[in-house]
Amino acid sequence: MIITNIVDIINNSHVFLITSHVRPDGDSIGSELALYHILRHMEKEAIVYNHDETPRNYRFLPGSDIIVHQLPITDKFDAAFVLDCSELERVGGEANKIKTVKRLINIDHHIHISDKSFCDIAFIDHQASSTAELIYRLAEKMVVDLTKEMATNLYAAILTDTGGFRYGNTKRGTLIAAGNLIEKGANPQWIAENIFESKPLAKIKLSMKVLETLTFDCDGKIASTVVLQKTIKSVGALPEHTEDLVDTPRSIEGVEISILYNELSSNYFKISLRSKGKINVEPVARAFGGGGHTNASGCEVEGDIETIKHRVLDIIKACSK
Ligand code: 5GP
Ligand code: MN
Repeated sequence: MIITNIVDIINNSHVFLITSHVRPDGDSIGSELALYHILRHMEKEAIVYNHDETPRNYRFLPGSDIIVHQLPITDKFDAAFVLDCSELERVGGEANKIKTVKRLINIDHHIHISDKSFCDIAFIDHQASSTAELIYRLAEKMVVDLTKEMATNLYAAILTDTGGFRYGNTKRGTLIAAGNLIEKGANPQWIAENIFESKPLAKIKLSMKVLETLTFDCDGKIASTVVLQKTIKSVGALPEHTEDLVDTPRSIEGVEISILYNELSSNYFKISLRSKGKINVEPVARAFGGGGHTNASGCEVEGDIETIKHRVLDIIKACSK
């Protein structure tokens, strides 16, 4: 029903805005570009706008050079797709302008706190591995014959949001979709090498420095690491190189939750939370105004690092009671 509504809007509109969250990742970029190719294939006009730059390891994705970082005047759009966002604010500083587009369509797989969406139409399935899996379902419904460009973007997005098909969001349907995308021309080895095996040395140096900050709490169940602006600078890395640093401490035996405190500016931290199995970190991120999924969530917090660390640990303890 919801998908049919979206298909109707696509068929009856001509100019589309496609956007997603700040500090874009593989799922947001791959989903945006796949949808862009689908709309272009239907001879529609589409613009992809992201607040932040595309991290270098996603710039091989077909169409990535068309992404703009300056929001065009919004009157020209018949509809806007807000992808991979549980709140409109996640798109960044231009959220208020995007709100003025006639039709807003949210396609997302995050846990949504409120039943009432910020969009007119919301296609949300928090069981889905990725927003890309939902775009794939939409394409199936539209009977679009997927091109290599679409398949590559969708595969890359699913690959990254499932941690290489390892996380709990990897379901039968996810792997069937991935298999079909390979049939349509996605090359798994080439995509994985571009995303995971082409790291600049500075990123590895940054991981080494960040691992030196590793501390444990709750009998080794909680692992914490810190990345400071000055650390990034000292090894010649970029802010985007902090992506996935939170994953290594989670891989330690006995660790159930990994937390990365990432200094965005003085006394302002982005917190990434990762957990194993049934341990749900989403309420912890939500307590700080953020959100996400059971095993991967995030939030932004103001304050000094020691105070923030205490608050986070207290909230984890309160949530696990
Ligand atoms: P990451 O730690 O990789 O930035 O994000 C992990 C997950 O939490 C992603 O699904 C991401 O979209 C979500 N997330 C990260 N930061 C925030 C935030 O500030 N607000 C909300 N609502 N979700 C977030
Ligand atoms: Mn996602």
